[in-house]
Amino acid sequence: MTARILDGVAIATEIRAEIAKEVSTLIAGGHRPPGLAVVIVGEDPASQVYVKSKGQACIEAGMHSETVRLPADSSEAQLLAVVDRLNADPVIDGFLVQLPLPKHIDSEKVLNRISPAKDVDGFHPVNVGKVLVGDPTAFKPATPYGCQQMLVRSGIETKGAHAVIVGRSNIVGKPMASLLIQDSRGGNATVTVCHSRSRDLPSLTRQGDILVVAIGRPNFITAPMVKPGAVVIDVGINRVIDPAHSKGYRIVGDVEFGAVSEVASAITPVPGGVGKMTIAMLLSNTLQAAKTGMSVGR
Ligand code: NDP
Repeated sequence: MTARILDGVAIATEIRAEIAKEVSTLIAGGHRPPGLAVVIVGEDPASQVYVKSKGQACIEAGMHSETVRLPADSSEAQLLAVVDRLNADPVIDGFLVQLPLPKHIDSEKVLNRISPAKDVDGFHPVNVGKVLVGDPTAFKPATPYGCQQMLVRSGIETKGAHAVIVGRSNIVGKPMASLLIQDSRGGNATVTVCHSRSRDLPSLTRQGDILVVAIGRPNFITAPMVKPGAVVIDVGINRVIDPAHSKGYRIVGDVEFGAVSEVASAITPVPGGVGKMTIAMLLSNTLQAAKTGMSVGR
């Protein structure tokens, strides 16, 4: 069997076009453009790339974009003051603080200071809880939300499927489980969550009709770990040294793509899979924040 490729570029482009259309309708109706701000502390190169992409995507969707750059030695109090300002800024519907933060800053304290109504990353405990209880006003964290949308828009039935998730981080594994167990479209799966202490991991992953992998280990999931005909969603983004590549490295996922493609029925590539969905879903959350704001007269 050769797996069907679930094309994150195509699905994300479709979602972004839908968002841009809705934004232009809002603006034509006299509303100001939805506004997204991104706060970055320090010079981490990967974070700089992500932040730039988020800003560009925002502008392409017709939204207002703001990037707040703080030096790496900024104090926690300075960052919290920026969060407070954005919480009160009437042209900003949603914002996020790019992680990871420098070690001297308490990330949890910063994330908890973001107003849940503007928390488009969905990391505030209020939104974490809302996602878990299936509250439709929740902001769903962009990466697992993107994985779910890939399944839904590819016509893959989650209802009744056994979804096995490898990884239990707060930003991917746990919220992925929250989304897949809901009694709603793209949910109703039976969910198993695995982690580094799980006993006999291959026996668990082989049970997955849907296998979502988010561990950050290049090519970790091999073909014998995958149930024949499974749908494989590879969230991993790993740099591996490759002298043959102009940059000296290339990006691979957590799944051994070539061999697993021969066993699975569908698979997401890396790059070109889940990574492309994350920004699309962040824009979707920003649009949701703007519409909610309008409905309460903000
Ligand atoms: P974390 O490091 O926060 O979590 C990794 C998880 O994997 C942990 O729960 C850990 O278990 C588990 N794990 C690690 N090794 C093993 C193992 N050998 N067997 C079983 N479980 C294991 O990572 P993230 O969730 O933040 O990210 C995971 C990957 O996804 C990374 O490659 C990251 O770059 C990528 N990513 C991609 C995004 C995108 O937009 N596409 C967005 C976010 C992340 P334990 O808890 O027991 O330590």
